Amino acid sequence: MAEPGRARFKPSHATGVFLVFEFHVTTSMRIGLFGGTFDPIHWGHLRSAEEAREAFKLDRVLFIPTANPPHKKRQPISAPRDRAAMVRLAIAGQSRFELSLVELARSGKSYTIDTVRHFAANSDSRDSYYFIIGLDAFSDIGSWKDFCEIFPLCNFIVTSRPGAGDSQALHTLPVAVSGLFCYEERKRAFRHNSGKYLYFLRITDIAISASEIRKHVAAERSIRYLVPADVERFIKRKGLYRRK
Ligand code: ATP
Repeated sequence: MAEPGRARFKPSHATGVFLVFEFHVTTSMRIGLFGGTFDPIHWGHLRSAEEAREAFKLDRVLFIPTANPPHKKRQPISAPRDRAAMVRLAIAGQSRFELSLVELARSGKSYTIDTVRHFAANSDSRDSYYFIIGLDAFSDIGSWKDFCEIFPLCNFIVTSRPGAGDSQALHTLPVAVSGLFCYEERKRAFRHNSGKYLYFLRITDIAISASEIRKHVAAERSIRYLVPADVERFIKRKGLYRRK
């Protein structure tokens, strides 16, 4: 639960004989980080972010399109500005969702550790971060750059995804990953020795994938109700995913 606002008096500056105090009210935030290629963003992404937001009482969820994903073999990926534009259109109606361009602004491969470090270094130390990720993507985490260093920096919300297995999959992660956690029955979550948690969140099954959407467009099939209507219009207007 979000902590209540904390009030602090802080000496600001001296004016002659008076010491001026500023009254600061600061509130710790619970922030979700949701990375993805979003090529294109679809209802499966939006619903999982929404269910994570609600279940963990997140104040904000940042959608972070990746620039150069090390794990996606498929090339080419749509232009970053198009993927970012689709995210912007898709989240327009939810004030707690925001687009973050932090990975698009960085050159080279997009490594999660660099993104998480960025937020950890640039935030109020009382804020807490929750990295939202589908079980399919999380299962590869043992191959991510410096993955051991990610866990002390943020909590993880691993969400279910059709075809990706169930929470048992977390018990069978590579030893290098599972060895870093112990299961806490009370919280029904895995605890890292840094005090951060790894949660599994069962969400509504929505069997949509971006690759299927791209295939539909290439085959001139409908993608209505797979993506928000504005995203569908954007794809049509820009001629994305059409067979060349
Ligand atoms: P592609 O089909 O091109 O691999 P994708 O649909 O998996 O793309 P990504 O942008 O790679 O989309 O996914 C970003 C994140 O969203 C990942 O953590 C992934 O597990 C999660 N995700 C994607 N689709 C769904 C879905 N239908 N339900 C739950 N989680 C999803």
